[in-house]
Amino acid sequence: MNEENPKCSTCSDSDCSASKRRRNETDEEFADRQKLQSRLCRIRHKIIVLSGKGGVGKSTVAVNLATSLMLLGKRVGLLDVDIHGPSIPTMLGLENEMLQGSEEGLLPIELGDLKVMSLGFLLKNQDEAVIWRGPMKMGAIKQFLQDVAWGDLDYLIVDSPPGTGDEPLSVCQLIGAVDGAVIVTTPQKVAAVDVRKSITFCHQLQVPVLGVVENMSGFVCPKCGEVTQILSSGGGRKIAEDMNVPFLGSIPMDPRIAQASDDGRVFIHHYAETPLAGIMRSIIQPIADLDGCCC
Ligand code: ADP
Repeated sequence: MNEENPKCSTCSDSDCSASKRRRNETDEEFADRQKLQSRLCRIRHKIIVLSGKGGVGKSTVAVNLATSLMLLGKRVGLLDVDIHGPSIPTMLGLENEMLQGSEEGLLPIELGDLKVMSLGFLLKNQDEAVIWRGPMKMGAIKQFLQDVAWGDLDYLIVDSPPGTGDEPLSVCQLIGAVDGAVIVTTPQKVAAVDVRKSITFCHQLQVPVLGVVENMSGFVCPKCGEVTQILSSGGGRKIAEDMNVPFLGSIPMDPRIAQASDDGRVFIHHYAETPLAGIMRSIIQPIADLDGCCC
């Protein structure tokens, strides 16, 4: 074995950046980078879900996207890097799950064919607050990518906290070649301003924008069917058009979505036959198309 450039165990691609030591890289840094790369090599598509603001339904979209891809027969990982407010364990009814280790690394929690990892699984109780600065967050995200036994995946969906801070930056830097970002917003102007920042963030990091999803776009009265635009409408589509990125579609407000996530059930799975689940599937189709599958 070449001591200067020891082979990565995943493949023998001599063009892979992990096959070559960088200038001034220590042995430890090089070994770490190879370990990270050997995990990432086994994941075909890496998608990050972003939003400008909190509470717009980003985690809801991430959970439904991941579950929908799994229901299509894909091997999917869902990584929650919302370090200060991990909500994925609750949305999937996994609050009481404990992580376990193996020779391969930390084992993600498995829900059917969906592999889930969240800092929420490491907190002793849900009231615990995580008070970490940027480098600690970067370290935790690196561990989630490098030390978790993800195995072979078709998709890794990363649910990032709102905004353009340390977490999405770390994810994009560590993963390198992210397939793209799905950006979630609500339709009103105050959310729209921030979604522009998320799009600019992607452009600056050369992460393709797969599209904008407008969530909570109108409320359909369950009794009479009348549509009320509680948060105005069309903001997401307008931004997508203005900034020349795809618009994936609108999800209306529906109490069943909120109820399902409180109950730890995924809407697109448990209400699969409803027209709204059909709307969600059409929004997700371009992401499913990345791996050539049909919703
Ligand atoms: P974020 O990740 O952007 O902070 P969440 O996905 O946690 O937002 O959603 C915030 C809350 O809104 C959750 O209780 C969720 O169930 C609810 N919610 C999200 N989208 C909808 C919707 N279209 N209709 C009704 N409730 C929704």
